[in-house]
Parts: sequence; C-alpha cells; structure tokens
Amino acid sequence: MWIKEVTQKVGEEVELLGWVANRRDHGKLVFIDLRDRSAICQVVFSPASGERVYQEAQRLRGEWVIKVKGIVKERPAGMINEKIPTGKVEIEAQDLEIINQAQTLPFDVGGDGYEIGEEIRMRYRYLDLRRPRLQKNLLQRNKIIKFFRDFLEKKDFIEVETPIITKSTPEGARDYLVPSRLYPGKFYALPQSPQQYKQLLMVAGVERYFQIARCFRDEDTRGDRQPEFTQLDLEMSFVEEEDVLSLIEELYLEMIKALYPQKKVNLDENGRIPRMSYQEAMEKYNSDKPDLRKDKNDPDELAFLFIVDFPMFEWSETEKRWDAVHHPFTAPKLPNGSLEKEKILEFLRNDPGKLLARQYDFVLNGYEIGGGSIRTHDPEILEAVFETMGNKPEEIKEKFGHMLEAFSYGVPPHGGIAPGIDRLVMILENEPNIREVIAFPKTGDGRDLMMNSPSEVREEQLKELGIEISKKEK
Ligand code: ASP
Repeated sequence: MWIKEVTQKVGEEVELLGWVANRRDHGKLVFIDLRDRSAICQVVFSPASGERVYQEAQRLRGEWVIKVKGIVKERPAGMINEKIPTGKVEIEAQDLEIINQAQTLPFDVGGDGYEIGEEIRMRYRYLDLRRPRLQKNLLQRNKIIKFFRDFLEKKDFIEVETPIITKSTPEGARDYLVPSRLYPGKFYALPQSPQQYKQLLMVAGVERYFQIARCFRDEDTRGDRQPEFTQLDLEMSFVEEEDVLSLIEELYLEMIKALYPQKKVNLDENGRIPRMSYQEAMEKYNSDKPDLRKDKNDPDELAFLFIVDFPMFEWSETEKRWDAVHHPFTAPKLPNGSLEKEKILEFLRNDPGKLLARQYDFVLNGYEIGGGSIRTHDPEILEAVFETMGNKPEEIKEKFGHMLEAFSYGVPPHGGIAPGIDRLVMILENEPNIREVIAFPKTGDGRDLMMNSPSEVREEQLKELGIEISKKEK
C-alpha cells in the first residue's frame, strides 16, 4: 500500500515499504520518517515493539530500505504535523525488516537540491531523483504527456513511431551521425525531427499523426537546450494555418485548466491566444518570442502567443545563400498573403527575400515552445525552394528526391507543428532549466557523468566500422 493511504487506516494494522528519510532518538523512543513515492509518515519504535525490533530500529540509518508492520494511531492534538499530509497519524511499530542498507549518500535528498553542484547531482542522478521536487516533475511531465495523448486520440489522431536511425533532415542544426558497419564510410543520422517521415505519413493517407518524439541536435547546450529533447510532433492533412493553431490552442488551454488550474492565462478580448506578426514582434519588442506577461515575478502567469507571417528566407552571409527561416518544406506565400503559384515561382527566382512563410511559432513567457507550418505540397514549388537555397539539380535529387517522388503520387495539402515538451514542463513547474524536468539529462557541457559518456570505444569496434581516430584529445 502507498504510505499516503495511512490516513484512512486509523486503528488498523498496516505494512509499509520504503526508505528511511530520517531517524531521531528521544529517550526510549526511536522515530523514523518513512518515505515512499506517495508521502512520508512517522513510525515510532519503543521497547513495546519487542526487543528484537527495538534493537534493529536503533541500527537504522538514512536511506535504508525497510518493511514495517504496525498500527496506525492518531497523534495527540499537540503533536500534529500540519506540514505533511500524514501529519495527523503515526505508526506504532510491531515488526521491522531491514531489506537493504545504504551507505551515506553524497548529498541530502530531502531538500530541493538547487544549492548542490550539478556535477555531483548528475553523477548520482538516481539519488537526486529521489528528492520530492524531482519526483513531482516526473509525475507532472507524465500527466501532461498523457493529457496530450488522450486529447489527440479523441480528435482521431494516431501515434506512429518513426525511425531513430535515419538520414539527415534539414532543420538547420548539426546532425549526430551513426557510422554504418555494413556500408563502411556511410552514415546514418539521428533525426533532428521526424519532419520528412511525418509528411510521408500524410502521403500514406494517415491524415492525423502525432508522436511523443525524441529529437537530436548537435548544438552547444544551454539552460533550455539539450542534445536530445522531446517534442509533441504532429501533422494533419487537408488543413490550413487556422486548423493547426485552433487545435493547439484548445489542447493547451484544456491541459492547463485540467492540470494547472491555479495558473492565470492571458488571453485576448475574444478569449483566444493572441497572435502577432513577425514584423510587429520585431518592431515592438525586437524579439520573435516576446514575453507578454504583465508581471514577470508572478509564477502563475502564463502568456501564450502565436507569431505568424515570418519571412520565408534569410540571407546567410557566411554561406552566401538563402536559408529557410523554418525549413524548406514550409510553404511560401506572397507579401500580400496570396498563394498564386506563378507569382510565387517568380519571387523564388528573382526576389526570395520578400516572400513570407506559412509558418507559425508558439511562444510562452518569452520562450519559443514550438514551431510549425503549412507545407509545400506542389512538387514544382518545392523544387524551386531547394534551388533558391542554392542546391544544384543533382543535389536536390540526392537529398530530397524521395520527397519529390512521393509528392508525385497524390499528396494531400498538409501542415503541422512540434511543440517542445521539456520547455513547457520547465515553465509550468517554475524550474530554472530543462535539466530539472528530464530524468537523465546531459550536463551543461553535454556529458552523462553517471554513465560516463561520451566515452572511447574499443579498437575492434572502430575497425569494424572502418574508422580511424586521427587525433585523440586528452
Ligand atoms: N519539425 C519542425 C521543428 O522541429 C516542426 C514542424 O515544422 O512541424 O521545428
């Protein structure tokens, strides 16, 4: 049984399993705070518990794993502990089994742990995760994801898994590469997102796809970035911008109402998530993810925002070419919003910097928490976009031939979005960075100190892969 259930069992005998959170000796009495995932409660050992049990209780130390049998008693009025949910009762121990001892932990797991150095927290993450704050973060993350799944299933979406070992897809970051043993010299890439697969699922007739998807981007880590992170990835057929945005709006507002009713959400005069053009955001706030909270010190204020009408391309001075602001599969539109094909092709050839994109970003409290777009489903426009971005015809065939071919077999108009889960949970739980809401994150400098990765591999493994390390760093 869960420890939190003791409050309903006054007068009854219970059997509890958990960790010793604390031990105090008071004269003849030994007090234990026993902890499981659900709660902490006080257990009292005395000579009346029996000689063996009483002796054993005196040996107990922090974080030992034990089984206790005893009677649930109401505490006298003066002894009630209002700070814990089980504070009105205590267990009068009758039996004790020490299941496992623990050596002294490298740090305290009772507090919130912010003051403990990251290196040591990450090296002993399995202990760090015992602290109630991190347990709550895992629980809330699970609830949010479950809400997303249930909601989307009701809206006829199906969850489809897509490959992790795949091919490079242009999201604009560096790929993690995986060498192929069977094809020496060739590499898979870990997906920066399931972008191409989800679009191919639209060609496949799935119509409404989602996935709690892991994405991998080899970028420098910082507080709100990790080498791997999780997105609620989704894609829909036969939709326009409004369909995707309304769905996300409904999903997020309902999730907040159900799981975070104490939060105050800023909405516009029609009760909707405000929308702002990229141009207005840049002019007014000099940012494409402005923080529209009225009081930035209020932990319960949520300011969602959709940014729309992004430019399609930006000029890269280093590469001397046009880059897609979102990604090349995003559909362009004319400066006046029109979708006239011939004119779009003309702009792509002569004046790509003036084209807008059917892109939207999702912002919360000054963080970008997602982005997406309506895609180009016309193979001719898609090819012209690749050309505008400086790809030669052979390169287009090599990199994107499969997409163009797929689009020649009856592709529905489609679009989607991919809101990040880590940042969302971080903001909702008022955490300072996403490492606090990921079970096993990498450190700020990209290492896993618990598993000790990245690490060297055996010579034979390299040989099998046809790889030689030219220079080893110390
Ligand atoms: N794949 C995109 C991203 O990760 C999202 C999308 O366009 O749906 O930013």
